[in-house]
Amino acid sequence: MEFSKKVAAIHPSPIRDMMVRAARIDDVISFAVGEPDFRSAPNVIEAAKRALDDGETKYAPGAGMTKLREVYAAYLKEAIGVSYETENCLVTTGGMGALFLGLTTLLNPGDEVIFSSPYWSNYGQQIVLCGGKPVAVDVDEAHDFVIDPVAIEKTITEKTKVILLNSPSNPTGSVIDDASLRAIAEIAVKHDLVVISDEVYRHILFDGETYTSIASFPGMKERTLIIDSCSKTHAMTGFRVGFATGPLSLIREMTKITEDVWSCVNTSAQFAAIEAFTHGADYREMMVAEYEKRRNYIYQRINAIDRLSSIKPMGAFYLFANITKTGLSAKEFCDRLLDEAHVAVVPGDHFGTHASEYVRISYATSMQKIKEGMDRIEAFVNRL
Ligand code: PMP
Repeated sequence: MEFSKKVAAIHPSPIRDMMVRAARIDDVISFAVGEPDFRSAPNVIEAAKRALDDGETKYAPGAGMTKLREVYAAYLKEAIGVSYETENCLVTTGGMGALFLGLTTLLNPGDEVIFSSPYWSNYGQQIVLCGGKPVAVDVDEAHDFVIDPVAIEKTITEKTKVILLNSPSNPTGSVIDDASLRAIAEIAVKHDLVVISDEVYRHILFDGETYTSIASFPGMKERTLIIDSCSKTHAMTGFRVGFATGPLSLIREMTKITEDVWSCVNTSAQFAAIEAFTHGADYREMMVAEYEKRRNYIYQRINAIDRLSSIKPMGAFYLFANITKTGLSAKEFCDRLLDEAHVAVVPGDHFGTHASEYVRISYATSMQKIKEGMDRIEAFVNRL
């Protein structure tokens, strides 16, 4: 059977591969997956159950339940200080669904999307699936993995359509500073570009920092598509509820094609999401406080190991460790760490062509496992 060239060009995710390999080892400690270890909040689970018991098992509107869009719009105003009407907020199947609909709606064949690398690998794949051309701008550790606006501007061509930002970042945990955001906003306005701002880790921010969305800069509300999700900040990955928020014309086009892609998002999950946005802040803050403790611990442990180092992640739940001094490639490091120490981490190559001297460590797992995992990593590196 012959398959679409677009699909054939997509590589299976090495993260999944690592998870499958790790699952075969009894005492494995996995830092591979970017999924909260917390259960969804009890009131959120209750809300989903209640919806099912009440017979809420039918299709929901393509744009999402009005009530959910209302509570989300109110939440977003509070979170980023930008007011959107209910009509500007579309409910999607996770952040992934929001990205896919957004890129499908925006891109014509060959349109270029600029984003920083290392990057969450789904970006490259989705852009290709949607007929676009991924244009990665390398960012480095010396600049805290934050993209340089000047480098963005140099990369712009006639075909550039979108600048895609992800802050806090998967895989580096870096956060784009306000000055850079402002400069990127000015570039977007000057060159009439759309910005897709992936803010799924918006609340997982440390050291008392507050979040700045690029949508809050002058001229940006009109050209920004905000990608959001209940997955990370509310520990609701399996519910598959996300959001796309942006200019009405764009959201209308995206809503139109929901009918051709998924019809609507799971109805009971939308009831759960309403609960998360109305009574979920305390639970969310509890999780963020826990991630911060873990970040502090893991950052200190990694940097105390000879031959390993990392920048201090400012958000999300990933640490991007530099393994250059071990003399191993990232792939060798990960394979041997799994085989010899039963610890799973993901090779940096997966997140960009110039990241083969790094491994991504997800600390969305219990402190007890992190301690044990770090002991094993330390012993492994010392044995090399
Ligand atoms: N954006 C980023 C940067 C992510 O890391 C993820 C999940 N790994 C998503 C979006 C999408 O998550 P979901 O579809 O579960 O909302």
